[in-house]
Amino acid sequence: MENIYCSIITIGDELLIGQTIDTNSAWIAQQLNPIGVQVKRRVAVGDNKEDIINALNEEQKHSKIILLTGGLGPTNDDLTKPILCDYFESTLVMNEAVLKHVTSFFERRKRPMLAINNNQALVPNNCVVLFNEVGTAPGLLFEKDDKLIIALPGVPFEMQYLVSTRVLSIISKKYITPNFIHRTLITAGEGESFVANRLIEFEKTLPQNIKLAYLPKLGLLKLRLTGTETSAAEIDEYFNTLKSILANIFVADQDIELEAQIGILLNEKNKTLSVAESCTGGHIAAKITSIKGSSLYFKGGIVPYSIESKENMLGVNTHTIETTTVVSEATALEMAQNCLQKFNTDYALSITGYLEKNDHENQVWIAFANKSTCIAKMITVPYDREKNTVLTVNSALNLLRLFIIENP
Ligand code: ATP
Repeated sequence: MENIYCSIITIGDELLIGQTIDTNSAWIAQQLNPIGVQVKRRVAVGDNKEDIINALNEEQKHSKIILLTGGLGPTNDDLTKPILCDYFESTLVMNEAVLKHVTSFFERRKRPMLAINNNQALVPNNCVVLFNEVGTAPGLLFEKDDKLIIALPGVPFEMQYLVSTRVLSIISKKYITPNFIHRTLITAGEGESFVANRLIEFEKTLPQNIKLAYLPKLGLLKLRLTGTETSAAEIDEYFNTLKSILANIFVADQDIELEAQIGILLNEKNKTLSVAESCTGGHIAAKITSIKGSSLYFKGGIVPYSIESKENMLGVNTHTIETTTVVSEATALEMAQNCLQKFNTDYALSITGYLEKNDHENQVWIAFANKSTCIAKMITVPYDREKNTVLTVNSALNLLRLFIIENP
């Protein structure tokens, strides 16, 4: 079966100067993959006619589907529509349905509609208009031979709306795509190269149509098996072998964030959580509360960043800090126990450590408490402040997950 390839052209000077990070391409690729379309190439070009046309010509040599995002708006730097109009030798015509939508869009927001906003309803006369319910710039779809060229707005949520509601079904109807199956395993506590070393023999057993990818994150490693033209049973067999080889560092057998797993565990057990985080400054609480429904199990957090706040707000003993220092097992344990009491929760997590890069490796103490047990673990964080924060947060969440499982 023929592979169906897609090229994504993202348009905008802001992407080239680094003012905006291109998240559109990554999101689109994630949507196309499950319907069997492979993103072959991604190109970013500025708001420049020649560059956009060159990219359009070039990408048609590589892909059947060309998705463009950005530059569809009404301002002078939005060039995509006039360029596509020239490129496909069309003329702009007023689309009454789009005009009605744009007018009511401004009316509903009680905002005046400027003359340039009328231009949003001007569309090339030989394209299919992809109605944009959530914004004002419609998507434009051109068919040329067996190729699809689709221009979408740059605003991420508008682009996402059009891809989800229109583009995916249009692609699925037009092309017969090979089937892809992905299975993701998450591990923690062992670096990529160590894991790869353990999987040498396993990788030799993989057939041509099943590939293994390593996706390391700070403190975590995702392993993805991708099967082309395979069955769920075949890929599950390899996946289960992978799982059993890595059982001692297993975190999850699906692509699910640690904070979501913690939420599931706490909900299942009907238990509550609180956190006292010094050096991570609230990052753990932010992760926990990013999960819908977290108010059911998360009672709150405190950021006792200074010694005084550790003593005054959290009630850590001055003597403990003076005798063992502020970054110590004893301080972390007391923080976790006091947090548990103050918030009256079933579990508490505490963190105290140094995240700023030093000559020596920095220590972070992480403690976990429930009503009967309180333990602390020390990790060392070798990177800069930003990476150390991510590493600490990931490690703490994984250790918390294990503590909840082991201490029901
Ligand atoms: P609209 O008319 O709705 O503004 P547009 O197609 O003209 O749509 P742009 O003006 O190109 O969109 O971009 C609008 C916003 O979307 C900008 O804030 C821009 O930074 C952001 N954006 C554009 N392209 C991308 C991208 N590839 N990834 C993430 N954000 C993007």
